[in-house]
Amino acid sequence: MKCFFCEKPARGVCRFCGRAICEDHTHTMPYIITVYVGEGNTPKSIVVGDALYCGTCKPQPEPIEMPEIY
Ligand SMILES: [Zn+2]
Ligand SMILES: [Zn+2]
Repeated sequence: MKCFFCEKPARGVCRFCGRAICEDHTHTMPYIITVYVGEGNTPKSIVVGDALYCGTCKPQPEPIEMPEIY
């Protein structure tokens, strides 16, 4: 598998969009696994720090509604 941006072998895959990325093009970003409502109706999120990120795609900070798939 080659990097999406250059011809180097990919080191990983962007957690957000799935593009293959080499070490030169690897960025990191916290990745929200899930959001839930805790005690007292306080929204909480479980986050993985330093998830692989391609630096190009635009992850939304909140889950977005996708009514068209239903
Ligand atoms: Zn690259
Ligand atoms: Zn990406």
